Amino acid sequence: MFGDRLPMVLTCPACKNDLELVLSISALLDSEKQDDGHVRLAVEGLHVTARQPTSRDLVDAAATGNREAARWVLIERCVEATDTHGTAVPVGELPASLLDSVGDALGAADPLADVVVRTACAICGHESGAALDVPLYLWAEFTVTAQRVIWDVHALATAYGWRESDILEMSAVRRQAYLDLIP
Ligand SMILES: [Zn+2]
Repeated sequence: MFGDRLPMVLTCPACKNDLELVLSISALLDSEKQDDGHVRLAVEGLHVTARQPTSRDLVDAAATGNREAARWVLIERCVEATDTHGTAVPVGELPASLLDSVGDALGAADPLADVVVRTACAICGHESGAALDVPLYLWAEFTVTAQRVIWDVHALATAYGWRESDILEMSAVRRQAYLDLIP
């Protein structure tokens, strides 16, 4: 939605200068791809395999509107268990403590849950790592974009008398082209 470039400013912990850098989101995703994010646990005679929820799973879980129901949607989609004979065990029969361990293990295995950006300071050469807070970053980008769209609507509605819904249906490129024509 916001393109591949992820501009950041970090402060060097040694010399306190601001460092500007641009991460490539596709490169970031590629570098984490070798790990499939699956976890496998064997406890109490059970073999459990769990995968990371996809965004589809998260949307469906959120649609239940209820924390406990959402949790079970994710468990049923993402967790599979077999006994020592290889027979499937329904996830509803798994002990709660085992499901908690699976959740912890998935959190620890999520390759993008903890993104650390390593960089060397261009001024003093000090090497440091900074955690990238992906949800916080996305929210900041989203807020800025939403504000810009509101200003675009305001400018186009004032100049051309168009309705908000029509302006929002245009692509960003088209909107910009009309904005550029406003004297
Ligand atoms: Zn420095």
